[in-house]
Amino acid sequence: MEEILTIEFKKWQEKHPDWISEHFYMGEFIYSAKAVQAGLDNMPPADAQMAIRNLVRKLLEPLRVYSREPIVISSGYRSEEVNRLVGGVPNSQHRKGEAADVYTFGSFRLLENLINSGLNFDQAILYRSRKFLHLSLKYKGANRRQVIIR
Ligand SMILES: [Zn+2]
Repeated sequence: MEEILTIEFKKWQEKHPDWISEHFYMGEFIYSAKAVQAGLDNMPPADAQMAIRNLVRKLLEPLRVYSREPIVISSGYRSEEVNRLVGGVPNSQHRKGEAADVYTFGSFRLLENLINSGLNFDQAILYRSRKFLHLSLKYKGANRRQVIIR
């Protein structure tokens, strides 16, 4: 279950390059309220944009379709300054465009759907009290399929 973009979508996308898939827009991965407040540019370089597209096409969009529920991004790409500002670990996969935090509204369902879907992923970290799920997929190299509940 990978690369589920239809031919129609691919044609439409040629005129709308910021839409990565049917449900995900590049801007969702770039926007950061903290970056805006601090006047920081959070534009991902080309390689990070490739990693974001990979994350969407091979993990988030297929998971969105499998789950039949909206997946709301709370944090996607982070520049070095933005990562520092939000207290991310220095080697965070958000720095490379390989990770996104998504709201879970306190439910385990998205994590269950991820496991049941058989989709490949690097890490899924469920932050129970903060009610979000960190999902990552490596752009290059082997993915660990590691599930952590905090
Ligand atoms: Zn994260």
